[in-house]
Amino acid sequence: MRSAGLRPKGRMTMHTRKSQKIKFMLLATGIIWLALFPACRRGGVEVSPQDLELRAREIHKKIVTVDTHCDTAMMLLGGNWNPADRHDPEAPGSGKIDLPRMKEGGLDAEFFAAFVGQGPRTEEGYARARKRTEELIQAVKKMVADNSSMIGLALSPEEAYSLKKQGRLTAFLGIENGYAIGRDLGLIKYFYDLGVRYITLCHSADNDICDSSTDRAEPEDKGLSDFGRKVVRECNRVGMIVDVSHASDRSFYDVLQESRAPVIASHSCARAVCDNPRNLSDDMIKALAARGGVIQICFLSAYVKKPRPNPDRDKALAEFRARYGNWRNIQDEEQRRKIMEEMQEINRRYPADQATVRDLVDHIDHVVKLVGVDYVGLGTDFDGGGGVIGCNDVSQMINVTVELLRRGYSQKDIEKIWGKNFFRVFNEVRKVAGKSARS
Ligand SMILES: [Zn+2]
Repeated sequence: MRSAGLRPKGRMTMHTRKSQKIKFMLLATGIIWLALFPACRRGGVEVSPQDLELRAREIHKKIVTVDTHCDTAMMLLGGNWNPADRHDPEAPGSGKIDLPRMKEGGLDAEFFAAFVGQGPRTEEGYARARKRTEELIQAVKKMVADNSSMIGLALSPEEAYSLKKQGRLTAFLGIENGYAIGRDLGLIKYFYDLGVRYITLCHSADNDICDSSTDRAEPEDKGLSDFGRKVVRECNRVGMIVDVSHASDRSFYDVLQESRAPVIASHSCARAVCDNPRNLSDDMIKALAARGGVIQICFLSAYVKKPRPNPDRDKALAEFRARYGNWRNIQDEEQRRKIMEEMQEINRRYPADQATVRDLVDHIDHVVKLVGVDYVGLGTDFDGGGGVIGCNDVSQMINVTVELLRRGYSQKDIEKIWGKNFFRVFNEVRKVAGKSARS
């Protein structure tokens, strides 16, 4: 049985009822683990999943854990969704991340991305994208201000370590889709000053900066544009991390050539394990690592594992795509919400063949075998499609560590994977920008 020591600590006080609920959940998680995974043997001694979880929780107390990508900021704009409430993961509209569940899952720091779908490349489109980005940034800041006893906004790795010492969670800010800056280089510094620390250069369609890995409209890969090269240089100058997730292969190599600082893939997997254009090939991972960068493994099931053929689901999805095209780019909020509901209905009716935590950790293993343990981390994409069996919301994050322990990863390795590697890149980017690591 679990000891009371497992109760989340820190400033956030849990009512007895809540703590009972958490105990029950931990027990339930243990049972699921027993069913999903056999006990592992270490030095001839059998280690139960519960023992591994206890060990995992001990490690999480000592390290700072970071998730480099989620789209939860959009939930904050919804109105009646309160991040300080614990939402039942099974309930509709619960979202994948709230502050109590971050504590439960042992996640210290989250990058809240201000996401803008790709829209028209016009002055009007740029103005709209900028406004939307500003609204999302303000929503995250408001969440932090409203819950300052639980969470703080960090602008550097040191601030995340300091918040952990205070028993508080960390919010970092990112921007997903360089469309947010339109064609105005000055907006990089502007967003940096608002607290943003990375920019994902593009999303699912080509933009003024670079070509995307998933733009079906124009198959030719033109890579980084002249404006894109200036964007990378400006990011280097101000200390903004360049994120190559979603970028096309040619864009990726162009960025590596252009950037004076290491770059990240905030939420991407290994293509050799799961063949998907959103994932990085072995050659790309080697090139990224050679420049000191890091690949943050994404939890989006289709990037983790090729699903088994499911003709009914495929047909429903094909019809859905024919109706809405690249629906993630749809700008109208109400329409977008309706489309997402329709998507959820398809998922309910024809459930996807979902990847598991084991499949996910296979990607970590692959990167570690390819380039070593210093170039890999985690970027869930929760609330943007991320979620695997065994880690389907932030309250289950500890299960990744349990699986790493089961495979024999040391505490030192786990600390690197959970954030130290990413923080190394973060600090290197600051150094290139001429900022002292302590400023
Ligand atoms: Zn994304």
